[in-house]
Amino acid sequence: MMLKKLLIANRGEIAVRVIRAAQDLGIATVAVYSAADADALHVQLADEAVLIGPPAAKKSYLNIEALLAAALSTGCDSIHPGYGFLAENAAFSDAVTAAGLVFVGPSGDAIRLMGDKVSARTAAADAGVPVVPGSKGRVESIEAARAVLEETGFPVMIKAAAGGGGRGIRIAHSLIEFEQGFAQAQAEALAAFGDGGLYMEKVIARARHIEVQVLADGQNAIHCYERECSLQRRRQKVWEEAPSRALSPALREELCASAVALARAVSYSGAGTVEYLYDDAADRFYFIEMNTRIQVEHPVTEAITGIDLVAEMLRIAGGEPLWLVQGDVTVKGHAIEVRINAEDPARDFAPFPGTVGALRIPGGPGVRFDSMLYNGYQVPPFYDSLLAKLIVHAETREAALARLTRALKELEIGDLVTTRALFLALAADPDVRAGDVHTRWLEGWLVENAAALAS
Ligand code: ADP
Ligand code: ADP
Ligand code: MG
Repeated sequence: MMLKKLLIANRGEIAVRVIRAAQDLGIATVAVYSAADADALHVQLADEAVLIGPPAAKKSYLNIEALLAAALSTGCDSIHPGYGFLAENAAFSDAVTAAGLVFVGPSGDAIRLMGDKVSARTAAADAGVPVVPGSKGRVESIEAARAVLEETGFPVMIKAAAGGGGRGIRIAHSLIEFEQGFAQAQAEALAAFGDGGLYMEKVIARARHIEVQVLADGQNAIHCYERECSLQRRRQKVWEEAPSRALSPALREELCASAVALARAVSYSGAGTVEYLYDDAADRFYFIEMNTRIQVEHPVTEAITGIDLVAEMLRIAGGEPLWLVQGDVTVKGHAIEVRINAEDPARDFAPFPGTVGALRIPGGPGVRFDSMLYNGYQVPPFYDSLLAKLIVHAETREAALARLTRALKELEIGDLVTTRALFLALAADPDVRAGDVHTRWLEGWLVENAAALAS
């Protein structure tokens, strides 16, 4: 292993996850924290920790200068960005490299190409991967949009080139709605992402979200099969599983091969995820975007393949050629992850920060709990509401659902209201059990069932 000392430019469960992988590989770790996170678990678990600024993320976890200064002053040779924050920021990747450090992720150029959703669409189409029908590039004006509308019809999606985390997407059902929404979408994208660029996609109704995990070293690329993340709220995943029960073996091979072809075509390096929508009825899949980072739901892939994806990222960044070949990657059983958020599902998912009371973490065979929680931990109100991820693995999907229910019953987080009750209800739902869902299914379900989730 070439890397000796790693700074983790993140917080929460993903910072803990990266620290663990580094320590398993004998890499020294440096945590960074804002003034709101002095007591955080990642600070406790790292070998060293550096205060980088006040609670506001802009002044701490998004502060490139403070992060670089922390890495250099502690003698780090590398930085892992986690997910969110600066993970898909090309300027950060470039700045880390320019400071003489290794960025654990793709180059700035690769992030610019694949992190921009419009240029990624073009790269996918060029690599022969089917993309959602829509605009060829960015759509700068309503006039230019009209030609695209002839192809897509209504409803149509207006998406921000720089969007992410389910933000920067809106649907127009008519020309009037489109014309009224376009300028507003531009302004919103500019405000939220610093880039007002928009593009258009046909709406794929009743689709499944299926994504392929790839690992690549710049020369070679392999896939670690797919994850299905069709249970979403506001276009954000809440429950993910692997493998997808919607794919036939032949289609699985085709989908995974297309992700590898794309990674090869752009000489991708690191871990990445190629996201698709799969239309069951038409039996067609369409590329939607690539995430050039580790994803929240990576543990379900780790569960079914036995591969430590974060360790692989660190090896690749350390300059080792990919040591896994495609034949090494085999799938065993079924895994499900649910996102335990500090949100009240009975009150429209209002954030619920507070203090963790008596914590009881689920365990036993096939159960993994990735979190930042400990007894008495005070959840700060400044950041993402993700507290923990519960991942279960079993021989079959049915057994995984039973194990999920068992583990959720074991979980206690004291007085904090979380999404736990939602997942207990979902695990018992006939449609979920049959796998008969699509990306809008959960929103419909919530309209009928949210009130019953009061805890
Ligand atoms: P995944 O694709 O790994 O499931 P999510 O879409 O849930 O990830 O995003 C992971 C985290 O990163 C969330 O905290 C989300 O809010 C944040 N995030 C992702 N993309 C962006 C972005 N472009 N701008 C701001 N935050 C983002
Ligand atoms: P983000 O960058 O925010 O993750 P994505 O482009 O990956 O955005 O889309 C997020 C989710 O929005 C998808 O998983 C899907 O549920 C929905 N979505 C995106 N594009 C389309 C589309 N063209 N048709 C239908 N649903 C879509
Ligand atoms: Mg996405």
